[in-house]
Amino acid sequence: MALAAIDMALWDAQARLLGVSLAQLLGGTAKPVPAYGAVGYDGEAKSARVAEGWARRGFTGVKAKIGYPSIAEDVAVIRAMRAAVGPDVAIMVDYNQSLTPEEAVQRMRVLDGEGLAWVEEPTLANDFAGHARVAREAATPIQAGENWWGPIELQHALDVHASDYVMPDVMKIGGVTGWLRATSVAATRGVRISNHLWPEVSAQLLSVTPNAHWLEYVDWWSDALREPLSIRAGMTDAGGVTGSGIEWNEAAIAPFVR
Ligand SMILES: [Mg+2]
Repeated sequence: MALAAIDMALWDAQARLLGVSLAQLLGGTAKPVPAYGAVGYDGEAKSARVAEGWARRGFTGVKAKIGYPSIAEDVAVIRAMRAAVGPDVAIMVDYNQSLTPEEAVQRMRVLDGEGLAWVEEPTLANDFAGHARVAREAATPIQAGENWWGPIELQHALDVHASDYVMPDVMKIGGVTGWLRATSVAATRGVRISNHLWPEVSAQLLSVTPNAHWLEYVDWWSDALREPLSIRAGMTDAGGVTGSGIEWNEAAIAPFVR
């Protein structure tokens, strides 16, 4: 992760030297990608309320953490969100590796009727065979990738069809260089590609990524940035920046800088 940070900083510096955005440095231009908002492990009422908030702001997708003690509770949360956002907003769910493959297969039999856009990390991220079993048995697309370390892990996962979609984390996959290598492998196999966290850098990268799918939007670090990634009508708006677009909000970070 340290090397990935240095890799990202060097690509950013090169783009700034040339006065272009990271997407332009990589041969492309800012491309709008649909963004989804995050919902926590918050139960029926709060999950519905947070999902509704994202939809009101124009987001066309929401993703909730599930993995409640029973599948009935998982379904209740999904249906509460569906009632809150209406039929046209994509709903994704994330188990964060919490099920055994067998449990996941059983829960997927129920979830397959809920019209979900994807089910993420139903079982251990590095259990590629387990993931492949779930992906094979489920009708709903399986999503994974945020815990894969580098392009070779992504390749090994796709070799056994562990996931239908991929969502590498630019910090874990090896920075801009690792992202380009990993997504090349995914793209040649026709796999749709989203990101995990780091929305500013990821919006630049998804602009030049074949099969770009969704941007995971989080605003957890926005206070530290002068201009956090802008979202317009639910789509990324990654143009008009230099480098990765990350500029510190100096006043906000001053207390942490010695
Ligand atoms: Mg996740």
